[in-house]
Amino acid sequence: SEKITVQNVSRSYESTQALADVSFSVAEGEFCCVVGPSGCGKTTLLRAIAGLDDPDDGSILVGGDPVTGPGLNRGMVFQEYALFPWRTVRGNVRFGLDRPACDCPDCEARVRELIGLVGLDGFGDAYPKELSGGMKQRVGIARALAVDPEILLMDEPFGSVDAWTRDRLHSELLDIWTQTGQTIVFVTHDIDEAVMLADRVVVMDANPGTVQSTVSIDLEHP
Ligand code: ADP
Ligand code: ADP
Repeated sequence: SEKITVQNVSRSYESTQALADVSFSVAEGEFCCVVGPSGCGKTTLLRAIAGLDDPDDGSILVGGDPVTGPGLNRGMVFQEYALFPWRTVRGNVRFGLDRPACDCPDCEARVRELIGLVGLDGFGDAYPKELSGGMKQRVGIARALAVDPEILLMDEPFGSVDAWTRDRLHSELLDIWTQTGQTIVFVTHDIDEAVMLADRVVVMDANPGTVQSTVSIDLEHP
């Protein structure tokens, strides 16, 4: 079934049209990569799905519900980690659960489970500045998964780590995807990365940002 439906979405900034009539959908459990050159509107699109930006036109449905603002059914991972520097790993992961809308019965256990899921057992008391880039992004992923979101949105999440670490994070992410059955939208400008990870690739053009094509990838994941 369709988990995310983007219908005729347009968004302009003062002098730039970032998105022009963008439509596509993502099936439940699908790993969808959005690729395209820098400036084609990928971040704008992802922020719109997250409810962090309000498109001028069109509609976005997540799990059948219209997106009208940020919500707990969407987890977001940012390129530059965006961790809270004054919170520990545990505190960062827990952040999502502390919101009033959450009635998680056993937050401590959940946080411990998430820290383990991303391979950071033993680092719960560490602060972000004590962690490597790869480890920081694992915290970002755990934090995004904390609310058990319906979909996981990732904006060039591995753009700031070295190639070696990126390879490792790719296989870890595919393991997490297999374990959780998450629906993922993963934005990147790297076509090789997209083809390696995705079930389906949405290819965008720039000036203004439009969907050029969508391609299904039949390759088995490693
Ligand atoms: P991408 O993520 O593919 O690099 P973006 O969504 O960041 O693309 O940007 C799409 C276009 O919109 C670019 O031309 C960018 O300069 C412009 N843009 C993005 N954010 C803003 C903003 N806050 N104000 C003005 N222009 C913006
Ligand atoms: P980067 O390459 O971005 O600096 P890595 O994730 O490759 O980040 O980690 C670099 C170093 O951090 C590793 O060599 C290891 O010492 C330590 N490290 C990373 N992840 C873990 C982990 N899950 N458990 C223990 N140590 C880790």
